[in-house]
Amino acid sequence: MVETWDEQYDVVVVGSGAAAMAGAWQAARAGLSTVVLEKTALLGGTSAYSGAACWLPGTDVQQRAGNGDSTEAARTYLRSLLGKESLAKQEAFLETAPRLVAELEADPAIEFTWRAFPDYFDLPGRVPNGRSFVPVDLPAEELGELAALVRPIVDRDRLGKGHGSGPLSAGRALIGRLLLALDRTGNGTVRVRHSVDGLVTDADGRVVGVEASTEGGRVRIGATRGVLLAAGGFERSATVRAEHGLPGSADWSMAPAGSSTGDAAQAAVALGAATDLMDQAWWAPGVATPEGAAAFAVGFRGGIVVDQHGHRYANESLPYDRFGREMAADPARVPSYAIFDARTSGQFPAYVVPGVAASDALEAGTWFQADTLEELADLAGLPREALVETVTRFNGFAAAGLDEDFGRGQDEFDRFFANPALVPVDQGPFVAARLVLADLGTKGGLVTDVDSRVLREDGTALAGLYAAGNTSASWTGPFYPGPGIPIGSGMVAASRAVSHLLG
Ligand SMILES: Cc1cc2nc3c(=O)[nH]c(=O)nc-3n(C[C@H](O)[C@H](O)[C@H](O)COP(=O)(O)OP(=O)(O)OC[C@H]3O[C@@H](n4cnc5c(N)ncnc54)[C@H](O)[C@@H]3O)c2cc1C
Repeated sequence: MVETWDEQYDVVVVGSGAAAMAGAWQAARAGLSTVVLEKTALLGGTSAYSGAACWLPGTDVQQRAGNGDSTEAARTYLRSLLGKESLAKQEAFLETAPRLVAELEADPAIEFTWRAFPDYFDLPGRVPNGRSFVPVDLPAEELGELAALVRPIVDRDRLGKGHGSGPLSAGRALIGRLLLALDRTGNGTVRVRHSVDGLVTDADGRVVGVEASTEGGRVRIGATRGVLLAAGGFERSATVRAEHGLPGSADWSMAPAGSSTGDAAQAAVALGAATDLMDQAWWAPGVATPEGAAAFAVGFRGGIVVDQHGHRYANESLPYDRFGREMAADPARVPSYAIFDARTSGQFPAYVVPGVAASDALEAGTWFQADTLEELADLAGLPREALVETVTRFNGFAAAGLDEDFGRGQDEFDRFFANPALVPVDQGPFVAARLVLADLGTKGGLVTDVDSRVLREDGTALAGLYAAGNTSASWTGPFYPGPGIPIGSGMVAASRAVSHLLG
């Protein structure tokens, strides 16, 4: 049977986050005609919202910074944390990262710089101040008209405000730089408002194209060499989350509204693809917003967090995924309350809390404020005695400089955003801010091999089909080893997919 296509390319890439754009650039750079199909009107997905830290060890970027990182040290660290469960994937990642970064930086559009941000576990192989790096800011003029296609920073995007003045930074710089590099190859095409929900196979079962919904109707787009699914996870689908018992809520996900609902992965499942880790996400405590969403809180600088019994349950300075996992462990922790005092003049005591104005939160009743802890407890519906006792005990730890319950302040990460990490909560008025279990994307998805080929339950590969980023099940399992693992591992997986389809 001869297929009829609306368009045909060598490679079809579904999604436009970091994994997708890295894969598209690599394919186009190798001379393959490549199309990026993005469901929404803007490119970049959650990657564009991100800090764009890339955990890609043993590269020239760390060499330039002289921070002591090496592939061997990273191997020791990953092995200490993950054991041998995902050995082949760990090795593929370690082997590919330096090559990929060298290739990326050989392109004049792409440049990275190391940025201090400690790894998330105190284990052998950890490098002081971390090993991740970020893209250098990108002047919007360099990207020209294409800049308008890149999704702006989360607060501005939610208000439809565009990029504003100044260069594209962090996730916007990463997506902008990859887009610029793709555009300059002359082999790349980008289509927005193309939502892929079907895969086309030939008589032998090989994936040879996709079907997508567009404003102009349904289209069929052929791929002579392969299809790379890099369409994020299913974090924005309440239905798929419920089906797999994923904690949290689609409303509390940090992914852009209308983005990742798992449709691309579902199309692969319809062909017999296997999935794994469907109850896992990259977690974070989120400050509940008046609109019912959540804002990712990074780097606690004061206060404490209590459950609905008024008790602390973890070191508040834990890396966000680890704190999120503590939240998820008990229903009495969602919501939790961050209790803080006047030291931060009514502002949430964290390094970054995107766009939650105290006045709006107090008016909406997602935050409460009172002159005494007893009154605060009444307003927030917390047990008075327990809250006062918890705060008094914590203040004793702050005075002594030792958190006897949860060891806050003892790890390098705890002191990165606040040193000392133990600050008393004793200056009224006091605030209780509602915290929910947010996510930065799901990490369960299609099962892939070391070359990112999508596998069936029996371990055989679906010819012509690859997956990367949050569309695939992460080899890190229930762990988030360090800043930049989602993006770093996604770009590596996309790169390996392209190397494989190039043969
Ligand atoms: C504030 C914030 C900061 C973060 N900082 C970091 C960091 O510094 N480093 C790090 O590694 N991670 C960070 N993360 C997490 C990280 O951003 C995400 O986990 C990661 O970017 C996911 O990348 P991805 O390539 O899988 O896809 P995404 O970036 O999620 O992009 C997927 C894209 O696919 C599109 N899509 C979905 N379905 C379809 C379909 N059917 N057809 C076509 N297109 C489709 C979506 O609309 C979206 O644009 C952060 C997250 C947040 C929210």
